[in-house]
Amino acid sequence: MAKKTKFKIDLNLDSVKVKRTAIDSNGDYHIYVSCTAKSALCHKCGQRITKSHGQCDESIIEHLPILDQRVFIHVRWPRFKCDNCDNNPTTSFKPKWINDTGDMTREYENYCLKFLINSTVKDVSEKLNTTEEVVEGIINRNIKININWTEVKPTIIGIDEIALRKGHSHYLTIVSDLSNDKKIKVLSVINGRLKGEILPFLRSIPKEILLSLDAITVDMGASYFSALKDVIDNIDIFNSIVTIDRFHVAKLLGDKVDKERKKVINQLKKDFKNDEDQLERLKQTMWPFRHHRCDLTDNENKRLEILFELAPSLKECYELREDLYKIFELKEISKEDAKEKIDEWCERAELYETKGFNPFTSFIKTYRNFEENILNYFTYRISSGPVEGLNNKIKVIKRRGFGFRNVVNFAKRIFLDINYKPVFLPTT
Ligand SMILES: [Zn+2]
Repeated sequence: MAKKTKFKIDLNLDSVKVKRTAIDSNGDYHIYVSCTAKSALCHKCGQRITKSHGQCDESIIEHLPILDQRVFIHVRWPRFKCDNCDNNPTTSFKPKWINDTGDMTREYENYCLKFLINSTVKDVSEKLNTTEEVVEGIINRNIKININWTEVKPTIIGIDEIALRKGHSHYLTIVSDLSNDKKIKVLSVINGRLKGEILPFLRSIPKEILLSLDAITVDMGASYFSALKDVIDNIDIFNSIVTIDRFHVAKLLGDKVDKERKKVINQLKKDFKNDEDQLERLKQTMWPFRHHRCDLTDNENKRLEILFELAPSLKECYELREDLYKIFELKEISKEDAKEKIDEWCERAELYETKGFNPFTSFIKTYRNFEENILNYFTYRISSGPVEGLNNKIKVIKRRGFGFRNVVNFAKRIFLDINYKPVFLPTT
């Protein structure tokens, strides 16, 4: 009976011939092979050498598992001697399928990398029954975080900061290739967000790529702006490609408007300090106020209306915020028309009645400073969805790898999960 369930498989590895196989007490497979190579390339002069000079000690090479059991290939590589070089150095033969350390096949390394996507080193080492050091070594040897500019031709680049650890003010800058919404790639993970920290990478981008970009999206952080001004020394090109993501514009305005809400609410709380009913009506209004009408439930909408009855100036404030948002939502509006609409909006916003500081005047001041770059959004509408998707993925990697000892390790995991994923897990 047992014989009928057996089958043969081809190892599909060149330069070796199977001599015998064995199964050890763990159920793991050991395949003893002999090497068929009749020559090697001298490690000194690079010439092909054929003079045999014995064999190396036995190498044990881990290969892809079979039926969930580990597989080890046992081989003694032949050695060859060079007659052309001084002292006749010897070189041992190595096939292309063997990895750099000589104890795993490249296929095994790729197999391990595939498991690492969306997973931790600890998880993978446990599942593959190996050590964390082995898995880390595979990452270090295979994941390259330097961009080869002859292979990538971005047309839209995004530059964004992320906090590495909350409360430690340790920031990283993520530079990404946003040319293809569905295939966002990370170009660099930079330690820091200051001008001096990001300039070396920006300078490494070939000038012909940099100057022919359709857009570079950045937030309003002054350091990105001034670094980009340094590398793009043509102000016209700078003004036409450097684009402030509308998400950052919305956030800036949202923050200013929310400050106004806090100010008004604090005053109302003082006014109503002996009136429990009125105080109750102020509750649960923060969330509805911060969001768009269309995202609110009926109950949240009611809460918002109650707030606006108590504080009519906040209603005006809210509507102004939403009106600007709507301009950015308009489809097929030209940069010139958008400018006109935003100018009109600014005139209205400046008239906003408030006790003390008008939250819109300070927003408008920032808008004027970055006007060209904010309006560039209407030339190349980069949807923020894919960028948010990228940021979320990075956040997940960060949380998963709470033990990242350095930025390079973190960068390698980002590159593996985002850039290498389609290679290891192609979608059909
Ligand atoms: Zn030689």
